[in-house]
Amino acid sequence: MSFTVCNILGVPINNVNLNEALGLVLLYLQDNEKKIIFTPNPEFIMNALNDKDFMEILNKSNLNIPDGIGVVIGAKMLGYNIRERVAGFDLIQSIFYKIKNTDKTVYFLGASEETIVDAKNMMEKKYKGLKIVGTHNGYFTEEEGNIIIDEINSLSPDLLLVGLGSPRQEKWIYGNKDKLNVKVMIGVGGSFDVMSGNVKRAPKIFIKLNLEWFYRLITQPTRFKRMLKLPLFIIEVLKYKIKGEKNERNIKK
Ligand code: UDP
Repeated sequence: MSFTVCNILGVPINNVNLNEALGLVLLYLQDNEKKIIFTPNPEFIMNALNDKDFMEILNKSNLNIPDGIGVVIGAKMLGYNIRERVAGFDLIQSIFYKIKNTDKTVYFLGASEETIVDAKNMMEKKYKGLKIVGTHNGYFTEEEGNIIIDEINSLSPDLLLVGLGSPRQEKWIYGNKDKLNVKVMIGVGGSFDVMSGNVKRAPKIFIKLNLEWFYRLITQPTRFKRMLKLPLFIIEVLKYKIKGEKNERNIKK
């Protein structure tokens, strides 16, 4: 199965909808090769433009889902037709639904100790038969990180969810992928906060109208500075588009 890859300012984004992304993850879970999944939004792309290592890492994953309406709009401006936004949180929930009552196991890494324990309890309650074999909070030193890797390997989960914030989680996954004995690794951002019930997702109507970002802005105003990256991203896409069109005209001349 392959899906169109959209190049958004150097970051590859797979044109998959939620069901297709889920299908791929289920295949990856059967595979013996390790797979990495990231969830780029405009903030990721803006950060990658100023961070070569992060850009390279985003180019080395197996699947990048279009997480954010900004990515869908940016892609459209560049001539790609990404059909829908795929929120990392929704993908994870559908994976849990599919793998509950199977032999597949999950490990949660990230967020505060209280949040990660709550997230495990809540998800085990919501998806009866889901096997979360271990958790660790996301506040650790490099040395402690090696002990965590040993613990993860001793449990050899099929799926490792890492929520350390971006780009720390992507760098951690990529930097440790060879040491980790897991099948699929996903960078999940703040999803554990939502799973634990500490942070609420926007009401459905906001999600449907592609206004989840607006809901987050009014409920978590401290994110304002981060959100300024969204209009800056659109400006970057416009600049890229104008440059590309100019080049095309020069070639035609
Ligand atoms: N986090 C962590 N370790 C750190 C920094 C952050 O585990 O060193 C966690 C934090 O507790 C939160 C998540 O990473 O659960 C990041 O959430 P944020 O809302 O920034 O992520 P986004 O979804 O916006 O990428």
